Amino acid sequence: MEKTENLFPADPSVLSDRSAIVKTTYKGEFWKPCPGTTKGYWCCGYQILTPSTGCGMYCRYCILQAYFPYQCQVMYENFHDMEKEVKEKMASTKMDVIRFGTGEFGDSLYSENYMGVACKTAELLRPYKNVILELKTKSNNIEPLKKIRSPQQVIIGFSMNTPEMIRIMEENTASLEQRLEAARKCEEMGFFVAFHFDPMFVYDGWESEYREVVKRILDTVRDYRKIAWVSMGGFRTMPRLKQILKEKNSHLPLFSGELIYGEDGKLRYFRPLRVDMYKAMDDEFRICSSEIPLYMCMESPEIWKESKMISRIPNGLPKYLDNRAKVMLNISQ
Ligand code: SF4
Repeated sequence: MEKTENLFPADPSVLSDRSAIVKTTYKGEFWKPCPGTTKGYWCCGYQILTPSTGCGMYCRYCILQAYFPYQCQVMYENFHDMEKEVKEKMASTKMDVIRFGTGEFGDSLYSENYMGVACKTAELLRPYKNVILELKTKSNNIEPLKKIRSPQQVIIGFSMNTPEMIRIMEENTASLEQRLEAARKCEEMGFFVAFHFDPMFVYDGWESEYREVVKRILDTVRDYRKIAWVSMGGFRTMPRLKQILKEKNSHLPLFSGELIYGEDGKLRYFRPLRVDMYKAMDDEFRICSSEIPLYMCMESPEIWKESKMISRIPNGLPKYLDNRAKVMLNISQ
């Protein structure tokens, strides 16, 4: 996301302020396929739209700290260029169904009251009946979503964690109760909802606490068919984040356990630990419903096999989620 123009005021206090919103013009592509990770890990084939970047909340593990040279939020004023690009690319795409998300480089809803780009993106995509948009958040800022005229084409994706990890790692975010309450309201408003357990952490009591969060989700959602999907990912990160946090002396407890380097150069948990996490979650979801689509984000084929989750994706991960999107959009397969 480096091709911006005239960028920001030089005032470093603004650039380092996560609550600040800076406007600028973006000259690059707004629509890009998820970079996934090609070296030995399976990507789901998500498409990313980026009308803004940054986030006013603060998660200790947030990779944006390492990704951008500034911490403020950035809103691209030239939304019309994104509109133009989407219309042009939609006219020539060969994809029969497209899963878009705006939450790759920031939180999709936290600053929606000021930016309004989530609702504008939903409106931009509304005419395309083979498109579903996911807005991912750790906030409970769902009030602005009332403006969306096509909730049946939109998924509100809540990032989930255990109360303990939210307390330690996710500053200024909505509590678990608030996220669940917001999810229930989104279901009532006609949206699909999704839940993302990413990153998951290993700590004393992790298994029972993550299982408990699953139970609470399943107690909250009234109609499981409104759950678009659930994803999981064990904590993994670029090594640079460790260095950045060390300089602030806040690398613990995030980096207190033993992490290994994956084939993509990222630090992550040992394979057996990751398998245990995913198996436990798969088991907990299956107790209530085997119909809820559950997948792992950027995991290796070995992990898919060892966790026995491979049986969920006989035709591969992108197809699994494309088929799910088609069901949600009432498109024949
Ligand atoms: S909510 Fe997401 S974007 Fe915001 S600080 Fe946390 S990880 Fe980063």
